[in-house]
Amino acid sequence: MSTRPMFARVAFIGIGLIGSSLARVMRRDGLASEIVVASRRQETIDRAMELGLCDRTTLSAADAVKDADLVIICTPMSTYKEIATAIAPALMSGAIVTDVGSVKAPTFKSLGAALPDYVHFVPGHPIAGTEHSGPDAGFPELFENRWTILTPAADTDPEAVERVAALWRQAGAKIEMMDPHHHDQVLAITSHLPHLIAYTIVGTADDLGEDLKQEVIKFSASGFRDFTRIAASDPTMWRDIFLENRDAVLEVLSRFDEDLTELKRAIRRGDGDKMFDQFTRTRAIRRGVIDADQA
Ligand code: NAP
Repeated sequence: MSTRPMFARVAFIGIGLIGSSLARVMRRDGLASEIVVASRRQETIDRAMELGLCDRTTLSAADAVKDADLVIICTPMSTYKEIATAIAPALMSGAIVTDVGSVKAPTFKSLGAALPDYVHFVPGHPIAGTEHSGPDAGFPELFENRWTILTPAADTDPEAVERVAALWRQAGAKIEMMDPHHHDQVLAITSHLPHLIAYTIVGTADDLGEDLKQEVIKFSASGFRDFTRIAASDPTMWRDIFLENRDAVLEVLSRFDEDLTELKRAIRRGDGDKMFDQFTRTRAIRRGVIDADQA
């Protein structure tokens, strides 16, 4: 599909799974006249160039954003403060700065607060991903039929918000506007808690005696396998998520804890009806996910 460029110069800061997937969409559809990529390691920017994801690379985020009308930050959230400080003086007036970080409320402090008031800050989060990282892991179809949530402040220029939304639509995503705190609560239950459970189960299995561990791997298809995929997700990214979304995660975790205690009690008491009711209710949720085309 070939489209008219939507942006003159786009700067990607970070070019891993998410950044390189979006860069692939922009290349495929000709959405930017020029793409500049900045990353931390020389090896990564060299690979971005080899993969044809950009026109120019640099190790300096400040250098990358010069004259860019769109800046897309695709790095772990723990880098935001440092990156914001570095790019702020180099940003062009009227530039749009967006990100793809998985927790939204803290971005207003870590990123937004450091940006000059002559740029537009439109935080975003594509609800799409895999357990793989780096520029080779990306693919342009990653965002198709997935949600991208945008959480701009109420007084953000609507035209800037629409330009970011249009970019994600071009990538095949569906757009939802959300309050950043609400976003963080929703994601705490839909994404952060499931990852925490997976990390815990796989850790528990890893702590078992060697014999038992071998059997767990051998017979993993009985349920464990799906948890190992989730628990293979990037450690830096997930450390940052739990640090940034601490309050919302702790809140859902205590509710989960209570529900788990109830199920524990049902098992101990041999309360089959309680378990049957619970498992019937949760089966209906799965049906809803399939009907919403998110399976
Ligand atoms: P990734 O594949 O690990 O890529 C991260 C990129 O950031 C790499 O290019 C890395 O470069 C670069 N980077 C790290 N520290 C940097 C620094 N100090 N300065 C400049 N570049 C730096 O990660 P990802 O999965 O794309 O995740 C990126 C963001 O997307 C995260 O904030 C995450 O929360 C969000 N997100 C991820 C998913 C997912 O499922 N993976 C889904 C939605 C949103 P080097 O190789 O040079 O170190």
